[in-house]
Amino acid sequence: MIKEILLSLSRNAKITQVSRILLPIIIVHGGAGDWKDERIPIGMEYVSKAAKVGFTTLMNGGSVLDAAEDCTLFMENCGELNAGKGARPNEDGILELDAMIIDGNNLDFGSVAAVSGVQNPISLARYIMEKTDYKFFAGPNAKRIYDEMIAKGYRRAEHGSIREQSNSRTADTVGCIVVDSLGRIAATSSTGGISKKKPGRIGDSPIMGSGAYANSQCAASATGYGEHIMRVVLSRMVTLYIEEGINPMSAARKGIDMFEKKTGSEAGIIAVDAVGNFGYATNAKAMPVAIIQGEMKNITIIDCLEK
Ligand code: ASP
Repeated sequence: MIKEILLSLSRNAKITQVSRILLPIIIVHGGAGDWKDERIPIGMEYVSKAAKVGFTTLMNGGSVLDAAEDCTLFMENCGELNAGKGARPNEDGILELDAMIIDGNNLDFGSVAAVSGVQNPISLARYIMEKTDYKFFAGPNAKRIYDEMIAKGYRRAEHGSIREQSNSRTADTVGCIVVDSLGRIAATSSTGGISKKKPGRIGDSPIMGSGAYANSQCAASATGYGEHIMRVVLSRMVTLYIEEGINPMSAARKGIDMFEKKTGSEAGIIAVDAVGNFGYATNAKAMPVAIIQGEMKNITIIDCLEK
């Protein structure tokens, strides 16, 4: 599997290019950061598997929200990425998770932050969006909404014991964007946050416009230092560039350049427009990205390493 991935590995990720126009599309990232060399192929393996999971949901008649949730849930469950089961613990060794799901066409979202005892915050975020009068729950009371979600049968309880502690060796946050053949868009983000964060710390990932953004025209999902991503509202900025006529690859690059100039920090971003042009950029060491466009066999997997 890893061999297959490495064969399709492109090291030109930082070079601007205009993609083909083709729908449906799913683009997935496994986090931008200081990846250990030996973990990069693992990150690439899991983003490609996640993209296949989401694309399969779409091919089986699922909505963009179904596909985005399934893709993200796979990454939360795989234990190899900084989300769900594999999330990085806080300073006290406890997992406190942040996640968001966005329905671009309805300009709607659900978010959850600093929640413990929940392995799949992405499903909880979707429940918040679809079944409550609110958009965002945080902290211990978010778990009460999770219990309500399970009691109502919206999702089944997670399999096995929920990890509240972890010795995660994993790298970064996960996120995806899905556009179906009618141009409907959904985006996600899910994370355990930055290393050794203080209990209660919340990053950009559940913040609409910062960790991700989607509307009926385009979407973006970000990763990197949340404290700095929030300062420039990175995902909304990149989508605004796309709305102004810049192609998603150049918009992603422009967003990362702007971010670096204003904050001196590191981040990564993926972006797509409603007709299937996509982009990605990072100024961190690496960011595993997988894209499936049109049909399952059109898969591209990139590590975004500097050439
Ligand atoms: N953006 C995430 C946060 O600050 C971390 C990451 O993407 O690695 O919580």
